[in-house]
Amino acid sequence: MKFTQEHKELQRTTRSFIDNEMNPFTEQWEREGIFPAHKLFKKLGDLGLLGIAKPEKFGGLGLDYSYQVAFAEELGTARAGGAALAIGVQTDMATPALAKFGSDELKEEFLAPAIRGEKVACIGVSEPGAGSDVASVKTTAKKDGDDYVINGTKMWITTSTQADFMCLLANTSDDKVHKNKSLIVVPMDTPGISFSEKLNKMGMRSSDTAQVFFDDVRVPQRNRIGAEGAGFMMQMIQFQEERLFGAAMAVKGLEQCINDTITYCRERHTFGQPLINNQYVHFRLAELQTEVEALRALIYQATETYVNGGDVLTLASMAKLKAGRLSREVTDSCLQFWGGMGYMMENDVNRVYRDMRLTSIGGGADEIMLGIICKMMGTLPGKRG
Ligand SMILES: Cc1cc2nc3c(=O)[nH]c(=O)nc-3n(C[C@H](O)[C@H](O)[C@H](O)COP(=O)(O)OP(=O)(O)OC[C@H]3O[C@@H](n4cnc5c(N)ncnc54)[C@H](O)[C@@H]3O)c2cc1C
Repeated sequence: MKFTQEHKELQRTTRSFIDNEMNPFTEQWEREGIFPAHKLFKKLGDLGLLGIAKPEKFGGLGLDYSYQVAFAEELGTARAGGAALAIGVQTDMATPALAKFGSDELKEEFLAPAIRGEKVACIGVSEPGAGSDVASVKTTAKKDGDDYVINGTKMWITTSTQADFMCLLANTSDDKVHKNKSLIVVPMDTPGISFSEKLNKMGMRSSDTAQVFFDDVRVPQRNRIGAEGAGFMMQMIQFQEERLFGAAMAVKGLEQCINDTITYCRERHTFGQPLINNQYVHFRLAELQTEVEALRALIYQATETYVNGGDVLTLASMAKLKAGRLSREVTDSCLQFWGGMGYMMENDVNRVYRDMRLTSIGGGADEIMLGIICKMMGTLPGKRG
């Protein structure tokens, strides 16, 4: 994958947005446990950044997915990881299936305003009893006349308290678990929807995360994305972009963490010399930078395959796994070199350590990625061993 002038231009626009509209507010958003999604998304929408790889017919830029990866990479430099995550939810977690499989009517009503930044989206897959095991979700959407009536609970939903609509995964029949699910667009002001208090998270504190309760929530059946019963399959496809995007977002965040640590270790003196002069310190940082470059190469390979229409299941899972592993290794090693300063909550290295811990858990934990890779390698034992 080769970055063209257009990719670089897109990254410059994104970087300038982050520097001017996001990073100055990091402390405030972290303290308040929320960022102003509508205000921020409108500005992003005006720049075209919420629809980079989305169809032009609905206001997107219609570019290939390599441009979205370039955007994700740059978004990793946002200091408020929670707000960056919420942008990723809008573009790569809650709307890919709608863009690929939704009716034109549904796209006009929900996708176009999401691309313009006028509607905020969230994704409702996880439940208190079903995170990794997506097939076991219990929320139901039962037909009643022209409507679905939805009952159940969704857990850890990013931006849910501000969102205008949710892309919801629910059981629409009693068929087998991979064939009984549908994706449904649910306007969040529909009667019967309520929320828990904002969840108290170790990281991603600038984003609002809550539990969402559905009590006889009625939405028209025309809000279903694609065919009934195809929801599980569409969600698995939707995960491909989520995982590529999540991995790409880690790259520059980790590089920034390494660079911040280099700056600190040049300034901090121990035993009469800058910390950076210790071979263990500069060698370790070189090793971490090498790992990040390897991750970047893997992401570019996966992206190129995806853009060329290839099957990206293995490579996207590997990229997500490697990003998860490095999100822990790099931030932990860097924090160590900050000593007591690294242990302070308000410190950048501390925040990135807490924020990026999510990479190994959200959107398919490391172990789920390993399971997929093993399946593709033919080494995953069958149900009967
Ligand atoms: C801050 C935050 C934001 C989130 N935002 C959203 C959102 O917007 N929408 C949404 O739908 N969800 C969201 N999630 C949920 C997230 O996707 C899930 O937490 C994740 O999929 C893991 O599910 P779980 O927590 O139920 O873990 P579990 O499924 O209970 O698994 C626990 C751990 O067990 C291990 N494990 C699980 N299965 C296996 C296996 N087969 N083999 C080996 N080990 C295994 C893994 O280490 C895993 O971390 C969010 C979570 C967080 C923390």
